[in-house]
Amino acid sequence: MAKVVVAILAAVAACFVILFALSTHSDITFDPQPKVIGISTPVTVRISNPHGVRRITATVEQDRTSTALSETSEGATRIMFWRAHLPAREFRFVAGSSKAPALKEGRARVTVEAQSNDLRGSHDTISAEVQVVLRPPSITTDGFQHYINQGGSELAIFTPAGSWNEAGVRVGGATFRSFPLPGNPNQRFAMFVHPWDTPADVAPVVYARNAAGNEATGHFWFKVFPKRFRKRDLTIDDAFLNKVVNQIDPTGSGDLLTRFLKINGELRWKNNQTLMDLRLKSDEKFLWTQSFLQLANSQVESEFADVRSYMYQGKKVDQQVHLGFDLAVGQHTPVIAANDGRIVWAAPLGIYGNCIVVDHGYGLQSIYGHLSEIAMKEGDLVRRGQTMGKSGSTGLASGDHLHFSMQIDGVQVNPIEWWDEHWIKDHIRSRVNVP
Ligand SMILES: [Zn+2]
Repeated sequence: MAKVVVAILAAVAACFVILFALSTHSDITFDPQPKVIGISTPVTVRISNPHGVRRITATVEQDRTSTALSETSEGATRIMFWRAHLPAREFRFVAGSSKAPALKEGRARVTVEAQSNDLRGSHDTISAEVQVVLRPPSITTDGFQHYINQGGSELAIFTPAGSWNEAGVRVGGATFRSFPLPGNPNQRFAMFVHPWDTPADVAPVVYARNAAGNEATGHFWFKVFPKRFRKRDLTIDDAFLNKVVNQIDPTGSGDLLTRFLKINGELRWKNNQTLMDLRLKSDEKFLWTQSFLQLANSQVESEFADVRSYMYQGKKVDQQVHLGFDLAVGQHTPVIAANDGRIVWAAPLGIYGNCIVVDHGYGLQSIYGHLSEIAMKEGDLVRRGQTMGKSGSTGLASGDHLHFSMQIDGVQVNPIEWWDEHWIKDHIRSRVNVP
């Protein structure tokens, strides 16, 4: 009899040991790692434990005082073998002074603790050192009258205050960085675009955000002149498709038209993305002094934001918007820099063929496409009117011409204003001291 009792006790003890040994730890990670918390900052952690978790708590600690932020729990299960492979779960909570009113500006630590839902119930924790930012940003705007053309450029000045670490101008979905105003660094200025595809009734907004994600916005006086962009049919034939497809994407598969449509759509988007990314290669100073030059004696074949219908064998097969000017002179005409600047791209770029991009500072850049010859390299400084290469028909071009375009902070803009010294005087020089 005693032997049986001993055997049962031994079996129970063995089960206990096995269950205990099979108990697991929780793997906890922040997604993403919080660095700053404010009034109500969302925090997410991922917790994985094959046995699940019984209890999760989030706390914030500052000056040795710990305050609970959030807690969740479920019934304890200690001997559930079959719950062996539970998927990872997310735990979301809000950190900040809305949950912990005693928090003040400075350093703090956010901790999440999870307890395994098994026999041992192991406690695992993860902590993040954070900065508490509670002061809101604020912003005051300039008193200028901003007359803006749809698809055109403008410049605004504003003064962010309070706690902020990012400020600029937003027009619809496009944002434009700001820079310290030369000679008055408490103020900021931003050049921005009312993008051609943003409705004219969308108001530009100046904004300042703090590191905790709180944002202040401000409005200035403005009037947007709507612009009706031209519509053009562009007839394409097999000779053109052959030339373009074999030059831009010689290894592509499918029939000629399919390959062309991929170039005209997907590759166009990708190439514009590459141009947009060049905005980060911009000097924080005016590299130019005079107005921008249009290629001399050139015939304008296409204008900014022409809406093009591509006609093939009598049918419309595609539609794209042409974000530049096509300027034709003659075969292999010298292509000049529109203004002083620094070369930030000098290489083939898909539909743009051999392409040069010149940075003029503060996010303003000019783009030259379809060149037959590039005589510059990245990093070179150029002077206004300096020859940088020769016109051609590389990329998505049927005849020899220069595709000329400009962009501000990666958003392509009508260059026509930048060719006009009066416009520059009224909109740029009158507000910012261009050297
Ligand atoms: Zn063009």
